[in-house]
Amino acid sequence: MPASDDRPDSPKPYRGRLAPTPTGHLHLGHAKTFWMAQKRAQERSQQGQLILRVEDLDQARCKPQYRSDMLEDLAWFGFRWQEGPDIGGDYGPYEQQQRRSHYAQIWQQLNQTRSIYPSPHSRKDVAQALSAPHEGDREIIFPIQLRPNTWETVADPGDVNWRFRVPDGETITFLDQNLGSTSFTAGEDFGDFIVWRRDGFPSYELAVVADDHAMTITEVVRGEDLLLSTAKQILLYRTLGWDIPDFYHCPLVRDEQGKRLAKRDGARALRSLRQQGITPEQIRGGWRV
Ligand code: GLU
Repeated sequence: MPASDDRPDSPKPYRGRLAPTPTGHLHLGHAKTFWMAQKRAQERSQQGQLILRVEDLDQARCKPQYRSDMLEDLAWFGFRWQEGPDIGGDYGPYEQQQRRSHYAQIWQQLNQTRSIYPSPHSRKDVAQALSAPHEGDREIIFPIQLRPNTWETVADPGDVNWRFRVPDGETITFLDQNLGSTSFTAGEDFGDFIVWRRDGFPSYELAVVADDHAMTITEVVRGEDLLLSTAKQILLYRTLGWDIPDFYHCPLVRDEQGKRLAKRDGARALRSLRQQGITPEQIRGGWRV
């Protein structure tokens, strides 16, 4: 690292990430968002770093075959990362399944400040909590009447769900690097959200914040359907007293009917396009990225 980066006032070197979930094959939507992430890492800083992190918390749905196909598809498309599960790095492990003790520490920090509470109520959002919420997943606003007024201090999460208590009525505003100023109001656009599930897993929201912070990510590039998650995640950063990264949300790639591409749309999977003899250059040719 050059001496200039040691100056306290010099900007932090850019660190971005690709954070796929191996529950299916990567499709054009992933490729486009990830390409933007790679481009920003390359353009924004000469020492821009890109990290590959496998978000495989959902053991039931993440398959080893998808994981290995994913690495192959990413490399075929032209992605290059400087840290990741296949090459290691200073901030590993790079697979969320192997980071559970780290998430437990974050639960502890949130527990100590009583920003989270045990919630025996089992609702649909508990089931959804492991994976990132995507377009079409209905936002479930937890009724505040179900918040406990008091609860015992405990040393570990036990077998109960935990929720983050949102500041009702507060508007969370952030400057999205693509969309500009973006706002959501706690208690209206989203409610007390799950941070820990009673089966011992952290939620997507907790895991992603814990990892982006631990891996010193300076900018998060991801799909527009995660905008609302960004507001929730900002609340976690704030509560934990951590620097908030920049966010750049990309438009979603849609099919002819206007629906967001999903992993079940095999026809747009990078593997099928490759099998049809289509090259990455041809795919990128139609993009303005
Ligand atoms: N792993 C998430 C997904 O595949 C992305 C999460 C993120 O970029 O924050 O949808």
